[in-house]
Amino acid sequence: MHKTCPVCGLYYEIEVGFFWGAMYISYGFSVGVVFLVGILLYYLANDPPVWVYVVTVSAIVLLTTTFLFRYARILMLYFFAGVQYDSKYNKL
Ligand SMILES: [Zn+2]
Repeated sequence: MHKTCPVCGLYYEIEVGFFWGAMYISYGFSVGVVFLVGILLYYLANDPPVWVYVVTVSAIVLLTTTFLFRYARILMLYFFAGVQYDSKYNKL
């Protein structure tokens, strides 16, 4: 992760250890993925053996880790750092 935004120069870590809180958000995401995948397996795969749950859930959580990690930090910035989207920086 950059220390500052490459577009607008915003310094992300507003205080030491600011992103520790993002771990709790990331944990919530992971729990959500576990429940979602578990429910989908139960209904779509007709309640497979336990090892199928463990392997599938573990693989999907590992594959989505970087994605969830980044979104947890983004939510942390939006909720607790007062960062807001500003369309004047949108270059698309
Ligand atoms: Zn920016």
